[in-house]
Amino acid sequence: MMPDHVAYTEPLRQGNSKTVIRPPRLMKPAMPTAEAIAPFLRRIDETGIYSNYGPLNAEFRDRLAAHLGVAAAVPTSSGTTALELALRATTVAGSVCILPAYTFIATAHAVVNAALVPLFVDVDPDMLMLSPKIVERVIAERGTDDVGAVVPVSAFGAPVDIAAWDRFRSASGLPVVIDAAAAASTILGIGTAPVCLSLHATKVPGIGEGGAVLTDDPGLAERITAMTGFGFTGAARMAELRGGNYRISEYTAATGLAALDILPGVLEQLHRVAKLYREGLEGRETALMDGFGAEWISSTLNVRIPQHRVEATLGRLDDHGIPWRRWWSLGCHRHAAFADVETTPLAATEEIAPRVIGVPFHKDLREDEVRRIVDLLP
Ligand SMILES: *Cc1c(COP(=O)(O)O)cnc(C)c1O
Repeated sequence: MMPDHVAYTEPLRQGNSKTVIRPPRLMKPAMPTAEAIAPFLRRIDETGIYSNYGPLNAEFRDRLAAHLGVAAAVPTSSGTTALELALRATTVAGSVCILPAYTFIATAHAVVNAALVPLFVDVDPDMLMLSPKIVERVIAERGTDDVGAVVPVSAFGAPVDIAAWDRFRSASGLPVVIDAAAAASTILGIGTAPVCLSLHATKVPGIGEGGAVLTDDPGLAERITAMTGFGFTGAARMAELRGGNYRISEYTAATGLAALDILPGVLEQLHRVAKLYREGLEGRETALMDGFGAEWISSTLNVRIPQHRVEATLGRLDDHGIPWRRWWSLGCHRHAAFADVETTPLAATEEIAPRVIGVPFHKDLREDEVRRIVDLLP
């Protein structure tokens, strides 16, 4: 088994030459500058309101919802807490939650923090995601008695088949919460299941730390909003619901408003770099994810390398100082803290996880850098 890689970022000296070639960075957050955030910060100085659903929070919330084409977006302190709250608001504590073994480990943390019992299942080997068909098969073999939730995960920001999950949801009666943490730049409307986003600095848009629950159900938005602030529903400061403090401050909302301002420019740059990769990899054995750079974009670029070429390719990237990472490692079931979680057979996960490799991708990547990287891929 290959170790999960830590990016090498020291400058490389090429032979005897004095020229130092800086290796490209694996990831570079596309956050707004201090200058872009400053006008919003000044508004905080003027209002003297620093948190507790202030005016910047409301403006950011409404602009985010409008941008994504949803009725409501509830800002949360992170993508992980967005998932926790959406699960707590829609499921019964103690029941089994089906989630893919192949996801970022945050999904598994959120499930257990929401007092659910995780069950890791396999993914579709082409989509790298859970499908209703997979869940139906698991349920047919295991029964539904103890199953209380399903969490499909968008693979690295790829679009989730929202309509298929809506059909599954109404046919099975099971709550579905979609982890679309990396898909904030992909979403255009949602279905009946709440959708959770991360707005971490490494996502697009990034606001530092933050997330959001998207829903077209105003009642659910209201309940989850209350849960972000100690369960208070009105001015009476009476906790009607159990929750906690999962709010964002006005400073985070200020960053969020500036992040939405720069978003079109960031997306344009990411599309430019994605196009270079698409063109460079045309006709090659290395595959981009379906539709990447054409129908959707995200903050990471993950290629699929043929199994028999993985080891040599990673060695070549290392030799040339090109950083790479398995963003989702080899699956949640391989993490020590989740080693005792029940799993169904994970043949597809075991097969694809070692060969899905994140390569350098950020808005400032140059054409010559992409060419150097692509030349090292099969
Ligand atoms: C980023 C991410 C998360 C966690 O989001 P945070 O904002 O870092 O808490 C959860 N799930 C997936 C799939 C992610 O990519």
